[in-house]
Amino acid sequence: MATSGKLASLRLPPLPTVGELIKLYNLRAEKQLSQNFLLDLRLTDKIVRQAGSLRDSHVCEVGPGPGGLTRSILNAGAVDLLVVEKDTRFIPGLKLLSDAAPGRLRIVHGDILTYRMDRGFPVNITKPWEEDPPNLHIIGNLPFSISTLLIIKWLENIANRTGPFVYGRTRLTLTFQKEVAERLTASTGSKQRSRLSIMAQYLCTVHNCFTIPGRAFVPKPKVDVGVVHFTPLVQPQIQQPFSLVEKVVRNIFQFRRKHCHKGVEKLFPEAYRIELTQEMMQKADVDPTLRPTELTIPQIRALADAYAHLCSHEPSLLSYNYREELRMKHHTRQGNTPTDTVTST
Ligand code: SAM
Repeated sequence: MATSGKLASLRLPPLPTVGELIKLYNLRAEKQLSQNFLLDLRLTDKIVRQAGSLRDSHVCEVGPGPGGLTRSILNAGAVDLLVVEKDTRFIPGLKLLSDAAPGRLRIVHGDILTYRMDRGFPVNITKPWEEDPPNLHIIGNLPFSISTLLIIKWLENIANRTGPFVYGRTRLTLTFQKEVAERLTASTGSKQRSRLSIMAQYLCTVHNCFTIPGRAFVPKPKVDVGVVHFTPLVQPQIQQPFSLVEKVVRNIFQFRRKHCHKGVEKLFPEAYRIELTQEMMQKADVDPTLRPTELTIPQIRALADAYAHLCSHEPSLLSYNYREELRMKHHTRQGNTPTDTVTST
């Protein structure tokens, strides 16, 4: 296909390769910042293609590092690329890229966990939530050390339409450790079905695009990497506050191999546990002997609705925290291990 004149003019002029830049600035990867670089521009182009058309788009790239993915985003036609990088050593190389793409690359030296993306882009790109997504994308070859934390934060932002989602249903194209990518996209009944699957899928359409073998990165990580694309849903599949959904899902999945009522029980203080669990399961019309991994999102919705109903009659239930209680008991008993085995997901 012929490249249109406008897109051709947005392509970068010849530059030192990413590998040359790494040598030039002596950029040894820092383990602490989960640095694994992608130097193959065919691969970074492939990641960028998963985002859809970037023609004339606004993009926030997380952790540009030596700038491989950054080049692909610019070459795909983004007109406003804001990169957030924590490590100062990469800033000179990024400035070189910015000179090669005048007015199109903004560099923020900062931490993506605290960066206020709701202030980073012009208000006029905003699209009403019910309409098509805005021409704004979040793209990143994420540092493993913060990827789960970051996606949970952004999922909460989606639920509340805050942060990057004040502009509308901003799409995200991100890398995760393969196992995390599989959990994010796992369907009902699959072995990888977990808390993350429910939290992501009740709010977004989630697509596991492809896997990048670990050997494609420098230095090579111990695991392969999955590229995941998220589009926030117009209507979340569960209409309860994020914190309530998170609490219900976390409790259900804490005993992932047991019947789901076992986790549901732990939503309630011991004195009312049996009675309220029965009431909640009946109200939700969910078979208590299903395993957490077998629950569909509509069933989780029914459980969250039933829990919200019980809490509306007894608001103190909302602040009850089984793990907290367990910790307190453990402390006072000093040395007596609790009988329940709590597994995290
Ligand atoms: N995008 C580059 C690539 O694909 O080659 C680098 C990816 S590397 C896996 C992760 C990048 O995120 C590194 O450049 C690292 O310095 C940066 N980083 C780590 N923690 C960060 C944070 N909290 N905020 C912003 N950038 C961060």
